[in-house]
Amino acid sequence: MKAAVIVAPQQVEIREVERPTPAPGQALVQVEAVGVCGSDLHAYEGSQPFFQYPEIGGHEVVGRLVEIAPGETPDIPGRDQTRPLEVGARVVLDPSMPCGSCYPCSRGRYNCCENMRVLGVHAPGAFAEYYVAPTGCLHAISEDVSADTAVMVEPLSIGMQATNRAQVEGGETVLIIGAGTIGLSVLLVCVSRGGRVAVSDLSPGRLALARDLGAQAAINAGEQDVAGELARWCGPSGPAVVIEAVGRPATVRQALELVAASGRVVMLGLCSEEIGIPGALMVRKELDFRGSRLHGGTIPQAVALVESGAAAPERLVTHHMPLADVAEAFELMIAEPDTTLKVILTP
Ligand SMILES: [Zn+2]
Ligand SMILES: [Zn+2]
Repeated sequence: MKAAVIVAPQQVEIREVERPTPAPGQALVQVEAVGVCGSDLHAYEGSQPFFQYPEIGGHEVVGRLVEIAPGETPDIPGRDQTRPLEVGARVVLDPSMPCGSCYPCSRGRYNCCENMRVLGVHAPGAFAEYYVAPTGCLHAISEDVSADTAVMVEPLSIGMQATNRAQVEGGETVLIIGAGTIGLSVLLVCVSRGGRVAVSDLSPGRLALARDLGAQAAINAGEQDVAGELARWCGPSGPAVVIEAVGRPATVRQALELVAASGRVVMLGLCSEEIGIPGALMVRKELDFRGSRLHGGTIPQAVALVESGAAAPERLVTHHMPLADVAEAFELMIAEPDTTLKVILTP
């Protein structure tokens, strides 16, 4: 079969590789469509510290289950398999494979596993005609959902985990800093829960999309005074929740400054730099400052959300390409980030 192997930084090759054979507890899935994630791009750019070259990337995927290996199915810890899986089922992937025995796993916080392995990062992913995954990582999805929507379930569940970590309730005011795929996924989930959302970003195009997707305020942080615009929107106290989806020290600092006293700040942008924490502000406002990682078992919730029609994450899809053009997809994401949100590849 054909697969896109990220061989080394800046080097991705379409190779003829052997079709994988599922081991006991695994299933073989034929890929219908696969999204290019920011973390795939980072692997291509050489800035994804966990990526094990050479490897087949890709983990945002919808496909058809073609074979379930006979034998004992070891449990994937923390999986809530809501629907039975049979050969022929249409499935989406939860790419995380926690160990089940470390401290966070023992507390049910599988997404924080100390020994986490992720398909497409530490094991072959779905930039291919077929992939194998532990059967417990696969979740059935309706035939009525479009391929674009089904691919977006995985990033949507990242937004769901962040929204859960922020404990957003109906009517609460939320500022999302960053209108990339993940920030907009957070927006979709917050809006579906009745949150009142403002979004800040530097890109007019992304801000316009945020407004279309239900943001009440879209603030251009490069041209407008964010604090002033927020005060006009939700009053001088500031929003109850700020979700940081950029991953830069300056925007984390901004989140802590803009949030209301007694508020919650959730950080899900990956930041490799040190961040200075304003100590007096943390105490004076009695802030909850939380991280958010991966999906936290929210894939079934995200499937239910798109099947209900209450969120339309396919509106984040900007490009479709054949899998063979994966290198062009990466280069487009680098060259035109303002107009390239989600690229979907088909083998
Ligand atoms: Zn991803
Ligand atoms: Zn673990």
